Amino acid sequence: MSDLIERAADILAKAKYTVALTGAGISVESGIPPFRGKGGLWEKIDPMKYAHIDAFLEDPETVWDVLIKNMKMVLDKARPNPAHTSLVDLERLGLLKTVITQNVDGLHQVAGNQDVIEFHGNFAWQRCQTCDQVIATADVDLTHIPPHCSCGGILRPDCIFFGEMIPPEALHRSQQVSAACDVMLVIGTSAMVQPAATMPFIAKDNGAVVVEINPEPTPLTNHISNLPLLGDAGTVLPRLVAAVEQRRDAS
Ligand code: NAD
Ligand code: ZN
Repeated sequence: MSDLIERAADILAKAKYTVALTGAGISVESGIPPFRGKGGLWEKIDPMKYAHIDAFLEDPETVWDVLIKNMKMVLDKARPNPAHTSLVDLERLGLLKTVITQNVDGLHQVAGNQDVIEFHGNFAWQRCQTCDQVIATADVDLTHIPPHCSCGGILRPDCIFFGEMIPPEALHRSQQVSAACDVMLVIGTSAMVQPAATMPFIAKDNGAVVVEINPEPTPLTNHISNLPLLGDAGTVLPRLVAAVEQRRDAS
């Protein structure tokens, strides 16, 4: 592992344009369970029953009760972990240009990254289905489920459910930066959710080195990713940043 981190640091320190693609795994150490894998939410609930837009439109009360209410309680408390702050360090070193995140927890922005593409929206906000007014999730009163807007409409998270379109601007920019980067860090994603999972393919097709950080192998490992760093993001990323800083200090 140390050897792989050193190799990744060599590449990163010389890179001109690094992009990170992050998934639920980067926030596991902030106390947010992922969907898939060990301890994942899908072990407890059926995604098609509760996380699909049709389920929400048909029965918002149940989806709020089983899924959204619990997400709010977990996300209200979550704070960035050392993996998030390492990405801020890489940005300050002038290496990391953009974070493409599939997460809806907003923790990259809280940590301090400046350019974050939110592929699936942000749970920090709720939008009224009737009048489109937006309010902070932290201010939503859970006494009545589903919560309503002052106009009487039902509130929904400002992130996408399964069955909804990726925000076109986020998709377009993600494709652009993936094609332009010379290094892509793929962190904590099972690479199972499309179209986010195509970004490492776009990067690799355009000549980028793909470095993957995940405790488990994924469909990308040793196929699309040149350098799989097997481990928790909160441990591996600070080590990687320290190794990059050493090279910077030495040059
Ligand atoms: P996923 O749930 O499908 O997979 C999580 C991945 O993280 C797995 O490959 C797992 O091995 C890895 N992982 C677990 N612990 C890790 C750690 N400490 N460090 C690094 N990696 C670790 O996640 P996904 O690929 O992002 O897809 C699920 C979708 O669910 C996303 O698109 C996202 O919108 C949504 N989601 C978001 C959050 C969040 O905002 N924090 C949480 C759950 C799900
Ligand atoms: Zn309203």
